[in-house]
Amino acid sequence: MAGKKKEIQLQTTITNQDQWDEMLLTKGVVVIDVYQAWCGPCKPVVNLFRRLKNEFSEDNVLHFAVAEADNIPTLKPFRNTCEPVFLFCVDGKIIAIVRGVNAPLISKKITELVQEEREIAAGQKERAQVDELVFVEEKSSEETVTETVPEEVLRYLVAIIKPDDVLEGRVEEIKQKIRDAGFAIEAAEEKMLTEEQIRVFYARNKDQPDFEDFVQFMMSGPCHVLIISENETTDAIPHWRELHKLSESESEPEEPETEKPDRLEGIVESESIVNLCDVQDSVEDASRQLAFFFPNFHKTKTDKKVEKTLALIRPCILKERRNSIMQRIKDDGFEIAMQKEIILSEEQVCEFYREHVDQDYFPVLLEQMTSGPTLVLALTRENAVAHWRDLLGPKTVEEAMKENPNSLRAKYAVENIPIGQLHGSSTPDDARKELEFFFPQEHTLALIKPDAAKDHKDDILQKVKDAGFNIAKIKEAALTREMAAQFYSDHEGKPFFDQLVNYMTEGPSVIMVLTKENAVEEWRQLMGPTDPELAKETCPDSIRAQFAQDILFNAVHGSSNQEHALKSIECVFGEIDIG
Ligand code: ATP
Ligand code: MG
Repeated sequence: MAGKKKEIQLQTTITNQDQWDEMLLTKGVVVIDVYQAWCGPCKPVVNLFRRLKNEFSEDNVLHFAVAEADNIPTLKPFRNTCEPVFLFCVDGKIIAIVRGVNAPLISKKITELVQEEREIAAGQKERAQVDELVFVEEKSSEETVTETVPEEVLRYLVAIIKPDDVLEGRVEEIKQKIRDAGFAIEAAEEKMLTEEQIRVFYARNKDQPDFEDFVQFMMSGPCHVLIISENETTDAIPHWRELHKLSESESEPEEPETEKPDRLEGIVESESIVNLCDVQDSVEDASRQLAFFFPNFHKTKTDKKVEKTLALIRPCILKERRNSIMQRIKDDGFEIAMQKEIILSEEQVCEFYREHVDQDYFPVLLEQMTSGPTLVLALTRENAVAHWRDLLGPKTVEEAMKENPNSLRAKYAVENIPIGQLHGSSTPDDARKELEFFFPQEHTLALIKPDAAKDHKDDILQKVKDAGFNIAKIKEAALTREMAAQFYSDHEGKPFFDQLVNYMTEGPSVIMVLTKENAVEEWRQLMGPTDPELAKETCPDSIRAQFAQDILFNAVHGSSNQEHALKSIECVFGEIDIG
């Protein structure tokens, strides 16, 4: 372990048993990061190690190494653990272990051991007889992992749809192509990838000349990260590889795997899915990346799927029986995700029921539906569509009375009216369309203000996503004074106006167009009250409660109504057509 190389390289690399045995001969203290080939050595501790190395540099007493558990028989007990493990070797023996990246503990241990070695070297202390640590193989590691890993690894792989395609609204199209090719999409998330995630995912491309540009390009906007699996076989990776080969032989001279930023300019016609989204191509990569991007994937996968359905309570019963119906909805485990009460126009009824307009019962339906306010509900629970449909019972009141008198259509039937008083979507696909009809997508302008953009960007973006917003556009830019004055024109003349404009222009903000049903209102709810002190009291989960400093430096901005939203979007992005 002595020699020149060590001065350049902080950690010696140990990849086999011989090198391990050689390491044991090192004089002084060796701190070994035991790692798994699939996840690599632990990066966050490197700075700490470097600092300690400098601190204890005089007598060359402290050394660092990284050892790959997979190929070193002594380290077999550490194979297949996800947690980083640090071993401490003194005088040829491993005498201590720290599991996890516990920096204070690692630092304390190193300091103690180095101190002791110095005292021994100076003759102030005798070397104590210390027992070598015996590594106990954790029961769970070998058996369970070898049982579960191959299945998990082979079935799922991570694919990334790049920012330019996301920006151009091609996500659904690409997903459909993936499905058409026989894969199922198990999970999809819109994410701003971190630089580290990009470097890990594209590690195989790191030597390509334009790699740095590519990393920047990948960070320029949100990507979609998908978990895909094959429907029929468990062997997703070989299948994807075959596709890859096919597309390479189809297309002109091997498109480089690294997409260049100029992809933003335009996209070639003859794209196949392997060029539209990137997938790692080895089993190890798949496993590592699954854990990297979706640490809770297997946990969430077993969770039941929460669905949304549309329910209508028609005017005839709404007034009298509203409470009892709402109670029934809650008792059955539904949550009300959105609701509105509206008096429908004839055109709206004709459009909503356009497949029924020729039926005999349509005139009655039309009259019914326009006779007063209808309560429109978006209901969520697992299996919501089928569950609500089952509760409603048979389609017509007559059938419902006969076949299932306990059904809601039977119970809430109105005398002399042959039309059921409640509606529910028939299929998840219908539910989506019907919900869209009543709760159309809205856009709002959301902004992470400069101080929060610096300190809490990732946390805030996570909350945006968790709340179900789609980030239709995103950019980081400092507002000009004109923009800030336009955003806050209503506040001109107020005592805080100048401070506000200074604050908003002091550095880059993250500016987004968010899309969702009811987006303006929902984003304002997620932001919370203007004053974070009030937010902490009344909406502790809101962004301002969690990330704002005070009433001025309050982390986020949101348009106050639809009209403002459109104006601000135009002002920042130069257009109002978000698609
Ligand atoms: P925003 O418009 O930023 O989304 P908002 O609609 O909750 O927030 P407004 O009343 O429109 O709040 O105020 C605009 C911004 O002016 C606030 O977000 C805050 O930064 C600042 N501000 C508002 N009231 C005060 C105040 N009393 N003192 C200092 N700054 C204030
Ligand atoms: Mg405002």
